[in-house]
Amino acid sequence: MKITTTKLNLYTSLFFVLFGNFAFFQHVLQIYPFTLKNIGFLASLAVVLTTSIMFLLTLVSSKYTTKPILIILLILTSAVTYFMNNYNVVIDHTMIQNMLQTDFAETFDLISSKLLYYCFLLGALPVFFVYIVKLESTSWKKAAITKTRDSLLCLLITIVLALLFSNFYTSFLREHKPLRYYTNPTYYIYSICKYINRTINSSKIVVAPLGKDAQIPITDIDRELIILVVGEAARADRFSLNGYQRETNPLLQKEDVISFSNMHSCGTSTAYSVPCMFSIFPQNKYSDKKGASSENLLDILSHANVNVLWRDNNSDSKGVALRVSYQDYKNPEINPVCDVECRDEGMLVGLQEYIDGRQEGDILIVLHQMGNHGPAYYKRYPASIERFTPVCKTNQFDECTQEEIGNAYDNAILYTDFFLAKIIKLLKKNSNQFEAAMVYMSDHGESLGEYGIYLHGLPYSMAPDCQKHIASVFWFSDNFKIDKKSLHDKSAKQFSHDNLFHTILGLMEVETSIYDKSLDIINN
Ligand SMILES: [Zn+2]
Repeated sequence: MKITTTKLNLYTSLFFVLFGNFAFFQHVLQIYPFTLKNIGFLASLAVVLTTSIMFLLTLVSSKYTTKPILIILLILTSAVTYFMNNYNVVIDHTMIQNMLQTDFAETFDLISSKLLYYCFLLGALPVFFVYIVKLESTSWKKAAITKTRDSLLCLLITIVLALLFSNFYTSFLREHKPLRYYTNPTYYIYSICKYINRTINSSKIVVAPLGKDAQIPITDIDRELIILVVGEAARADRFSLNGYQRETNPLLQKEDVISFSNMHSCGTSTAYSVPCMFSIFPQNKYSDKKGASSENLLDILSHANVNVLWRDNNSDSKGVALRVSYQDYKNPEINPVCDVECRDEGMLVGLQEYIDGRQEGDILIVLHQMGNHGPAYYKRYPASIERFTPVCKTNQFDECTQEEIGNAYDNAILYTDFFLAKIIKLLKKNSNQFEAAMVYMSDHGESLGEYGIYLHGLPYSMAPDCQKHIASVFWFSDNFKIDKKSLHDKSAKQFSHDNLFHTILGLMEVETSIYDKSLDIINN
């Protein structure tokens, strides 16, 4: 069968609009319902989406590129459609960064039979047709004329329709910006380009020194030992310490902990939040590039001769621990507590020996948890922890009830409760030699089906509060010289990741010109 390039591009564009944009039209219909007034605009939107995709395909079309590009786009779009339809995520540049920084085990968690159906029906089948059809061969001159004609025609149709329904398009583009995040494959193509552009720019990054003047005064004779736990996807409202009706913190509740119930994250994903937490830049001034081009909290502590260790049971430190001791606890050869996966509590094995080995100076140990990493919450805790049943034992949320998903999630919180209580026990054992503290903060929250949204990573401006409102718990040994009463009093005040940097500097009693007391939760 022979077909012209124009037709092949057109059919593929129509295919994308019909089968890859369910989430887009669903969101559009919420804002512009199917009424007589809107019907013309809605029809034009489908045409504009088709001509926009067709325009892009035409630009990159040539004798040698048409088929390979269509094949790659069909496969990618089938998988993207699956994640958009089932988890309500959008593929922005941060999401792409997350996907590329995710390891095999995490990716494996996301694979399901339903994903394979999508890839087969919306990917492999159309790819087969694209593969077997023969493109009509023309001279390069004729091909160039066709290409110009097709792209101009697409532009013309788009412009005419935009003018015809200009009132609608103005509101669509200005007031409902997030809607375009759901267009497929246009938005993820845009995001890939943005990601590549950022990566090229960041490869030229030089890390600027920061806080070189940092020191701990000799008058500070007490040694501090702080374990900073970077949590994963733990929502504030799922901690019974914050009033959740289920007992998800049975062990922490027995300790004298302070839960900061109004803590908000810097971003909605690990890749964005973690470097932001350790950076001096507040959220409104932070960017990936700024974070990577400056030394961070751990570097400043090193300048002040604090012993710094990062143990990681998540993906990695996202560039934060590049210049300090780093140990990978996802590796079963290093982590002694692994069953279906390596457990967070494995990071505590041998920690006493590490502490005993540091004869001088303060100690900061960062433990980066696997925590509540979704969608397979049921894998995030050993069987002995499970208390809330029935549990969703699949990564396909549509096969589970809200209750089963919530149960799995809450069981994973129980495991964090167990883990943090174990840390407190270790710190108590060391409190005759150290002023000891635990600082726990999740990197971001999680959606558990509210508004049909799951997981996390939506752009901050459109993310629901549950993806930003995070769990955070502090504990101090009795000999730690702080005013616990006043801390309890301000525990319901609004704080954020912006406060972490200066709070840790304050706790370690580091003197440096960059310390901002007004952002230190403890001393302000
Ligand atoms: Zn995370």
